[in-house]
Amino acid sequence: MNIVLFGPPAAGKGTQAKLLVERRGMVQLSTGDMLRAEIASGSDLGKKVKDILAAGILVSDEIVIDLITANLARAEAAGGAIFDGFPRTLAQAEALDKLLGSRSSLIDRVVRLKVDEKALVERIEKRFQDQGRADDNPETYKERLAVYNAQTAPLLPYYAAQGKLREVDGMGPVEDVATRIEGALA
Ligand code: AMP
Repeated sequence: MNIVLFGPPAAGKGTQAKLLVERRGMVQLSTGDMLRAEIASGSDLGKKVKDILAAGILVSDEIVIDLITANLARAEAAGGAIFDGFPRTLAQAEALDKLLGSRSSLIDRVVRLKVDEKALVERIEKRFQDQGRADDNPETYKERLAVYNAQTAPLLPYYAAQGKLREVDGMGPVEDVATRIEGALA
């Protein structure tokens, strides 16, 4: 089974993806984590994307599609992928459908975590204090949210048209949200 966890930054995608990994043995494919690992390693790709992540805007479709392509076999071997933070543009969503199709696979469900904007801003303030992630600072977060609304939210009709979209209330305790996600995957 392949799942897309969908929602704005700080909606809880990473947290919920990790729970699904624990409980279902699937593999989390987070393009944000992959890009941060490239930056931390000082690779050429890391150098290329560092300022883009710091600005809160999107790296090119080609870069993230290549990262996903390189990690897909690992996820398939584990029984499926949880896409976290990917796709973020229509071009990425179309490329993912093609890529999976060429491997006789597909996206089974897209789970949208719905969290109101006030709660998102509160969460991000806490995460910024706890983890010190530079792009969680209030200014950059505002930009990331704007990018989500402009470039990523338009994917919702794409997945709705495929009959794959499930809306889940992302507010409240982590375990409660996890239970709702299990319901959406059943
Ligand atoms: P995230 O950890 O998912 O919030 O991603 C952090 C940053 O990595 C984003 O603000 C983008 O700069 C970049 N990024 C992650 N995933 C993607 C993607 N699918 N497409 C373009 N940029 C991405």
